Amino acid sequence: MTCYLDYNATSIARPEAIEAAAKWLGGGYNSSSAHSNGRKAKAALEDARTVVAAELGVVPSLVTFTSSGTEANNQILRCAGADAVFVSAIEHASVIKTAQKLYPDASYIIPVDANGEVIIAELVALLGRAKASRPLVSVMLANNETGVIQPIAAIAEAARKFGAIVHSDAVQAFGKIPFTLSELGVDAVSLSTHKCGAPIGAGVLATNGCMPIEPLLIGGGHESNLRAGTVNISAIAAFAEAIKKFSDNYNHMKQLEIWRDAVEQKIIQQFPQAKIAGAAAPRLPNTSCIMLPGVENSVQLMSLDMAGILISSGSACSSGKVAKSHVLEAMGVLPEFIGGAIRVSSGWSTTQADYDRFYAVWSELVERILTKEAA
Ligand code: PLP
Repeated sequence: MTCYLDYNATSIARPEAIEAAAKWLGGGYNSSSAHSNGRKAKAALEDARTVVAAELGVVPSLVTFTSSGTEANNQILRCAGADAVFVSAIEHASVIKTAQKLYPDASYIIPVDANGEVIIAELVALLGRAKASRPLVSVMLANNETGVIQPIAAIAEAARKFGAIVHSDAVQAFGKIPFTLSELGVDAVSLSTHKCGAPIGAGVLATNGCMPIEPLLIGGGHESNLRAGTVNISAIAAFAEAIKKFSDNYNHMKQLEIWRDAVEQKIIQQFPQAKIAGAAAPRLPNTSCIMLPGVENSVQLMSLDMAGILISSGSACSSGKVAKSHVLEAMGVLPEFIGGAIRVSSGWSTTQADYDRFYAVWSELVERILTKEAA
């Protein structure tokens, strides 16, 4: 049986979410249609919006469904009327690359420290130097590779002194740690359906209503003119069902943290040369970035795959290849550790047996490789 430990790439969908998705998949349900099927889809869409809004502590009209987290990130960067953007060095490509493409002369990279936390003093210095009239600060809530949770409330407080709009890519945090927009102190967050127990297919851009936002896509008047294109009711209805299970998620996360910490401890004991990225910072309970110099991450990944254990290298590259992690680089991690970094990420379906199996197979594998190399 497959042991799936790659939840940060995409989660296993919950049965309730799959059932909800299936209900709308058969076709005939366009939420813009005036007939009864259309009205049913529209009602499901608005129900889902209410569920998302309640989780984020905003009113439903401030929740816009997009096609993905990537699209939500593109929309906020392109359509919030900013004249300069400040993004952290560890952002997802959909933030960092978009910022650099859209603002070639006015995008600023905020450095992180060795724990992977944004250096707020550096952000303040950058904002001070840039003297932008409408700066946008975008820092993720939790990092996809290391799980490190950013001090968003403090970042937002510092950014506000410069009149900045503050956005957080909360794609990885949503469903793993509870938060509302006002607790974070941000104007907007991005979410994605497939990272928290629903299938791939939709995203969210939610705002606090205090900032103007324009549509990214031009076309029909869907989503109150903020996102043209027929909505993916299947993914969105499934998302609502996944969110209804968040209190179970949060309970299970406590368990995952115990299992994860135990495995990390065993690893450090057996391989004292290994390091856990971001271990000294607050982290998502489900994520481990294990860095073992001397054993290429692609070799670890493929060997585990052959044993039925699915993990990821430091970052899941869109081409399916193992790419060098810009996140670990930004943290000042040495190349030999980056080359040996793997990510183990768990979720609602993960059991202690999964962690045990991972550890047994992985430790045997790397021990064998290291012994062979030493001989
Ligand atoms: N932001 C973060 C932090 C992510 O981890 C991902 C996906 O890996 C995304 C954004 C993009 O989300 P989507 O896959 O919905 O485009």
